[in-house]
Amino acid sequence: MAMVNKNVSYKLLRTLARRANAASPLRCHQAQRATSNATTTVVSQAPKHIPTASPAGNDGDDIFDFSDTKVLFASVPTGKLLHSAATLSVAAVEPMVDLSLWVTNSRLMDVPLFKNAVMGAIKYTAYDHFVAGSDTVETGHTVRRLWDSGVRGMLDYGLEHAVDNESCDIAEKQLIKTAESTQSLPPSSVGFVAVKVTALCPVYLLRRLSDLLRWEHNNSSFKLPWKQQTLPIFSEISPFYHTLQQPAPLNAEEERDLELAHQRLVNVCEKGFESNVRIVIDAEDTSIQPAIDYFTYWASIKYNEKQRPLVYGTIQAYTKDADMRMALTKKAADKMGLPTGFKIVRGAYMSSERELANSLGVDSPIHDTIENTHNCYDRCAVFMLDEIATGPGGLILATHNLQTGKLAATKAREYGIGKDSGKLEFASLYGMADAMTFGLRNAGFGVSKYLPFGPVDQIMPYLLRRAEENKGMLSSSALDRELMMKELKRRMKAYFTDSENKVKRQANSIVN
Ligand SMILES: Cc1cc2nc3c(=O)[nH]c(=O)nc-3n(C[C@H](O)[C@H](O)[C@H](O)COP(=O)(O)OP(=O)(O)OC[C@H]3O[C@@H](n4cnc5c(N)ncnc54)[C@H](O)[C@@H]3O)c2cc1C
Repeated sequence: MAMVNKNVSYKLLRTLARRANAASPLRCHQAQRATSNATTTVVSQAPKHIPTASPAGNDGDDIFDFSDTKVLFASVPTGKLLHSAATLSVAAVEPMVDLSLWVTNSRLMDVPLFKNAVMGAIKYTAYDHFVAGSDTVETGHTVRRLWDSGVRGMLDYGLEHAVDNESCDIAEKQLIKTAESTQSLPPSSVGFVAVKVTALCPVYLLRRLSDLLRWEHNNSSFKLPWKQQTLPIFSEISPFYHTLQQPAPLNAEEERDLELAHQRLVNVCEKGFESNVRIVIDAEDTSIQPAIDYFTYWASIKYNEKQRPLVYGTIQAYTKDADMRMALTKKAADKMGLPTGFKIVRGAYMSSERELANSLGVDSPIHDTIENTHNCYDRCAVFMLDEIATGPGGLILATHNLQTGKLAATKAREYGIGKDSGKLEFASLYGMADAMTFGLRNAGFGVSKYLPFGPVDQIMPYLLRRAEENKGMLSSSALDRELMMKELKRRMKAYFTDSENKVKRQANSIVN
C-alpha cells in the first residue's frame, strides 16, 4: 500500500514539476521580490466599467500598470487615500510600532482610562485602515464602497480559537449571521465567507483528531469509528512528529463534541448555500491542520456540486508537502467527480512551526528558504490554473506578492480565465496591497479583499499581526505607500492648478 502511494505521489510530483517548468520563464523569481458556469451566478454581475481579461498570448509585462496613479486610485476618495498613506507610513517606522506593541501588551492597559485612550487612538488609525467595520452593518458599507470600485469582499468575522462548546456556539451564530448579511448586499459583492474551524470545534479536540488521523495514516490496522468520508489529508512527506505514540481513542464526550462541531459546520455551509455565498476555510498550524483538512474535505464532499465548489480549503505553500498534498487531494476528488476549491497562501506560522520542530530535534515542515516557498506557491498556482482551465473547480490566490500576481495573471490570460469564468479570484487583506488589487482589477481579473470585522477589543490580535507585517521601510506596504504619496501629490497639484486658473478667470472677468 505504502509502495502504491509512493508511486502515485512520485508521478504527481513529476506532473507538477513539468507544469511548473512550462511556466519557467516567468517562474524564475527576481532575487529581490517586491516584498463554469455555476460560479458565474456570483461573478457575472460585476460593475460594467471594469475591463475584462484580454486574450491569450501576453508576455506579462502589461499586467500591472502603476505609471498612471490617477487611473490606479481613481475609485479612492482623497480622504481615504490620505488616511491610508498616513497609517502605512507610521506603521513603517519600526520604533513606533515596537512602542505601540509594547504599550498594548503592557500592564498599563489594566488602567481603564489609559486603555480607553489607547483603544481610541487605535480605532482611528490601524483599526480604520485594516478592519472593515465593527459589525455586519458597518462592514456592509465597506463592501458597497469596494463593490462600486470593482472589488469584492470576503467576510471574515474576527474570531480567535474557541476553547469550549459554548464559545463555538457563539461563533457559529456569528458566522450564520455573517452569511445571512450578504443577502442584503448587492448580488455578487461578497464572494466568500471565511470560516475558521478553530472557532467551530474546540482546539483540544482538533489536536486529538489530528493525532488520531496521523496515526491512522501510518497504521492501516488502526480504525477510526467516527471518521466520515473525506479526501487525502497527508502525503508521505507530511509531518508526523506531533504524534509519537498511539493516541487513545475518542471517549464518549469527545465523540459528542465532534458531532456538535460537524453540525455547526453543516449549519454554516447551509446558510452559505442559501445565501449564494461560498465558504473558504482558513488554514492554521500543522499541529491541528489535519483535523481542519478533514472537516474541509468532508464538507466539500457534502456541498460541492457538479461544477461549483461551495467549500474551499486552504493550502499553505510554505510547507514542504504542500504541492504533493494538494495534487493528491485534487486527484482523489477528480476520481469522485467532485469539483475542488483551493485558496493558496504562503502561510503565517513560520516562526512557531520552526521553533516546535527545532525543540523536538526534527526537520522543520517549512521550506528552508523563502525562494523555495515562492517556487512552491507558484507550482501550486500553475497546477490549479491548469486544472481549472479545462475542468471544474475554483482557485483563490491569496497573496500580496507582485511576482506571483504577475505569473498567475499571465498564465490565467493565456488560458483565458478572466473575471467572467468565476473560477479565479485574487485576494489580499483589507488595507494591504491596494496597488496590486487595483492593478489586477484594471487588467480584468476578479479581485477581492479579505474583510476582517468585529469590535476593536476582539480584533486586537489581528491588528497586532498586521502591525508586525507592515513594520520597516522595506515591508510589503512600501509600493503602496510610494504610489499613494505620488497620487496625493498629483491631486494636490491639480487642485492648486485648478484654483489658480479659477482665480485667473475671475480676475479676467472683472477686468473685462
Ligand atoms: C486573503 C488572505 C488570506 C489568508 N489566509 C491565510 C490562512 O488561512 N492561513 C495562513 O496561514 N495564512 C493566511 N494568510 C497569510 C499568508 O499566509 C501570508 O502570511 C501573507 O499573505 C504573506 O505572504 P505573501 O504571499 O502575501 O507575501 P510574501 O511577502 O512574498 O511572502 C512572505 C511569506 O513567505 C514565507 N516566508 C518568509 N520567509 C521565509 C523563509 N525564510 N523560508 C520559508 N518561507 C518564508 C512566509 O510564509 C511569509 O508569510 C492569508 C493572506 C491573505 C492575503
